[in-house]
Amino acid sequence: LTEACLKAIEGAGALNAFVHKTPEIAMEQAKAADARQSAEAPSLNGIPLGIKDLFCVKGVPSQAASAILDGFKPEYESTVTANLFGAGAVMLGKLNMDEFAMGSSNETSCYGNAVNPWKVDDRQLTPGGSSGGSAAAVAADLCLGATGTDTGGSIRQPAAFTGTVGIKPTYGRCSRWGVIAYASSLDQAGPMTKTVRDSAIMLQAMASHDVKDSTSVDLPVPDFEAMLTGDIRGKTIGIPKEYRLEGLSEEIDAVWTRGKEMLAEAGAKIVDISLPHTKYALPAYYVIAPAEASSNLARYDGVRYGHRAKLSAGDGIVEMYEKTRAEGFGHEVQRRIMVGTYVLSAGFYDAYYNRARKVRTLIKRDFEQAFAAGVDAILTPATPSSAFELGAMKDADPVQMYLQDVFTVTLNMAGLPGVSVPAGLDAQGLPLGLQLIGRPFQEGDLLNTAYALE
Ligand code: GLN
Repeated sequence: LTEACLKAIEGAGALNAFVHKTPEIAMEQAKAADARQSAEAPSLNGIPLGIKDLFCVKGVPSQAASAILDGFKPEYESTVTANLFGAGAVMLGKLNMDEFAMGSSNETSCYGNAVNPWKVDDRQLTPGGSSGGSAAAVAADLCLGATGTDTGGSIRQPAAFTGTVGIKPTYGRCSRWGVIAYASSLDQAGPMTKTVRDSAIMLQAMASHDVKDSTSVDLPVPDFEAMLTGDIRGKTIGIPKEYRLEGLSEEIDAVWTRGKEMLAEAGAKIVDISLPHTKYALPAYYVIAPAEASSNLARYDGVRYGHRAKLSAGDGIVEMYEKTRAEGFGHEVQRRIMVGTYVLSAGFYDAYYNRARKVRTLIKRDFEQAFAAGVDAILTPATPSSAFELGAMKDADPVQMYLQDVFTVTLNMAGLPGVSVPAGLDAQGLPLGLQLIGRPFQEGDLLNTAYALE
């Protein structure tokens, strides 16, 4: 299996999904997997996976697709990858992504964009972002599953664009130790796979309580796969009216209606609900996420990691910082740092950052009220469009790209789990996804509902 994946990766260079291949490590892990007695084999024994470049893997380049981390090889292993390898998984290499996970098209990567294996005529399409390499690799069968991370939609949007399944677990379910930080109060790791069942198996291996991450939650990890019965009789599914955006395409609306019908046929009760603060989620996210990013990215100063600019005679430490950061960070990352420092600055803190935090509480309360009223899961579209052409947003206002996250950021703000499941094709023949949002730490139930939609 590992050899077949390595061969497929060699033949798929045009997708630019893998940015660093680790065939030696893969073959060593695969041999070790073969040697394990089947009776005692762990859950992912010999299963070849791709790892998003945001995860630190000991001794393997881990750059978050940024030039500023050029040559960085971590001395330590992220808890999630340690858990996966502990479960017998095989690492094929590191996967492409948007720089520091900032983006929705994989075009901010220092390695150039990954390409969606789905095509319309000869147009090259984005696999989505930021976990675009993960989505492209899974969709093109280069690996059996991949890790992703999701701060505002980076697992679910690329899953929707490539016809794959991706779940962002509840904040705290997977350890963030060793995952290069973007916005620490929003970041979560999760699996990207071909099927809901594969996601259940992979999430089970990834999740754990970890004393090295103070926000990781000390709760048992249930057997998610065993919970996939497909029985959702008596469950209540909420349809939030605020997600019916003006100008929502008829095709997406149709897919949404079909999703409702499928769940109703499976015995669920469909109810209309209201999440009144939804429209403030995107602007509040684009205050909070850059604020946290500007703080997290302060550590890349040319001293401790990766790239350092060449200096001229007379340059001091300030010039060293400035030149290194100007060369090492791409434009989108620089924009986020500037927005983040602005909203945190003394004169604007209350008007922006504090205001956004209050909005965040209101968004969380909307969901809590829906769940308290008996809703078990919420069904929405995953994205406002299918995969768009690479380069299409090059000259657009950056907010156009941010609008990709309109359905996904709400639950990062509330810390809730969300899954994107393939839900059919649009008129161009491109995949569309539906999103299900669940109660905190009820990923098993959520995956089971997604299973009924699959
Ligand atoms: N597109 C969003 C952003 O750029 C989400 C990214 C993510 O989830 N990592 O911030």
